[in-house]
Amino acid sequence: MPGICVSVARTRHKMMIAEYKAAAEQGADLVELRLDYLRREPDFGRLLRERPAPVIATCRRRDEGGRFSGSEEDRKRILRLAIAQGVDYVDLEADIADEIPRYGKTKRIISYHNFETTPANLKLVVRHLESLDPDIIKVVTLATSPKDNVRVLELIRETKVPTVAFCMGELGVPSRILCGKWGAPFTYAAFNPQRLLAPGQLTFRQVRDVYHFHQVTRNSEIYAVIGDPIMHSLSPHVHNAAFRHLGIDAIYVPFRVTRDQFPTFLEDVEPLKIRGFSVTIPHKESAVTKVEYADGAVRMVRALNTLVRRDGYWEGHNTDYRAAMMLLESRAAAPAGTRQPFGGKRALVLGAGGVARAIVFGLVRRGALVTVCGRTLERAAALAKEAGARHIPWQQRTGVPCDILVNCTPIGMFPNVDECPVPPGYLEERMLVFDTVYHPENTLLIKEARNRGCQVITGLEMFVKQAVLQFQLFTEQEAPEELMLAVARRELAMTDTTAATAKGQGTSEDAVV
Ligand code: NAP
Repeated sequence: MPGICVSVARTRHKMMIAEYKAAAEQGADLVELRLDYLRREPDFGRLLRERPAPVIATCRRRDEGGRFSGSEEDRKRILRLAIAQGVDYVDLEADIADEIPRYGKTKRIISYHNFETTPANLKLVVRHLESLDPDIIKVVTLATSPKDNVRVLELIRETKVPTVAFCMGELGVPSRILCGKWGAPFTYAAFNPQRLLAPGQLTFRQVRDVYHFHQVTRNSEIYAVIGDPIMHSLSPHVHNAAFRHLGIDAIYVPFRVTRDQFPTFLEDVEPLKIRGFSVTIPHKESAVTKVEYADGAVRMVRALNTLVRRDGYWEGHNTDYRAAMMLLESRAAAPAGTRQPFGGKRALVLGAGGVARAIVFGLVRRGALVTVCGRTLERAAALAKEAGARHIPWQQRTGVPCDILVNCTPIGMFPNVDECPVPPGYLEERMLVFDTVYHPENTLLIKEARNRGCQVITGLEMFVKQAVLQFQLFTEQEAPEELMLAVARRELAMTDTTAATAKGQGTSEDAVV
């Protein structure tokens, strides 16, 4: 079973020892003490007195991403002392490994870091590390493309010595999570979310509780979400929780993929044999060109949010569309005398982007008289024309009466929670109000609509429903919807707490990149 090594980087011994103990109590398999962060000479008597978990001693100089500001001779002396004190592992960069001999039971991690790129000659680098008497090899590079994840992961299987290899940066996050599946003995995580030590580093809680790193096996199926930005996506939380709940051996990771990288992305990560993708901004339209089969919603809206690998080809689905329509149909009773769910109802859709597109097409198809109201008139006009709706300028949005109001703009989204896309006085009890914004769940629009007795649909309901439908396409199993909703709610609450804490913290004892 792969383990998690928690890195502890504090300037004071007292705090380093406290975090070391807390990490061990919370289940860290290994703790890396970043001696280079200590303001004073390490006191190993104090640091190692209790030894609640096996320890890696690391003392990184500045050009290797560390904080040590003394001389190289001093640094080597500290590392020798750590070995003499019997630390379980010592981390030695390749250029000093020869000068610090093996002694006692301390195992040697011979490490290579590259903060600029994932170099072409990785295999040569590894051959060199192998020649330096390692017990473990550590290779950490900066990912400049999603493909770099594949390159470092392949290294793990090709190397004779146990190898920890992953990429830094947001583009490298998948490799931090997947390295266990490829055979790395452990991955690294930060203890404290406010003190990340390297770009793209995940916290212990994320690696253990969101990605279930301990449970990842060689056979785990991989699923992913792709988009840009992607790091705050709720999708890994809800999908991984559902996999665990149902005992499915699968892992779901976030891939940041820029527009430029998307055209070759599926081929770039083909060796990972990813079974399915959630697709988000900005790739929903361009992904349509990648599928051999597109469902009816994708063909109508010309955008998708789900890719599923079938025998050798990709299938495209639009569960945003299906989720929104299911929710609307469940809340709006079909008028008497019509079989169309929204026959004759007047719908006002605010926004003319991707989500508006799916909802406008769906409402028109179900018989609603749709008005699109967009900030950019031409965009609203084009969507309305294509879908068979009408359009009005943004300033006139409260000038038309409606039965169904749908907000498809980001107005009201965190942190602008005091904004509402229409004046509350516009809302009437008979209306169905759907806000696609899901952070927060109870936007000002939703609160005002509830206050006036309107039926409401929240963006979080839509988010979870599209994830549920996606999960069913991925696994052909019923998704645990209530659990997924509870996980999404909990995660949003934690995001708010973290943001509030970060805001209130100001300068910290030892602010970290
Ligand atoms: P998008 O393609 O970027 O479209 C956003 C639309 O909102 C555009 O029409 C834009 O106007 C308009 N807009 C942006 N800021 C505005 C402002 N200050 N005033 C008026 N209009 C404004 O984004 P999308 O993918 O459609 O997403 C729209 C919203 O849906 C997101 O903010 C998100 O909260 C929500 N969403 C929810 C789910 C879910 O599952 N619940 C999923 C995806 C998205 P222009 O045309 O002038 O640019």
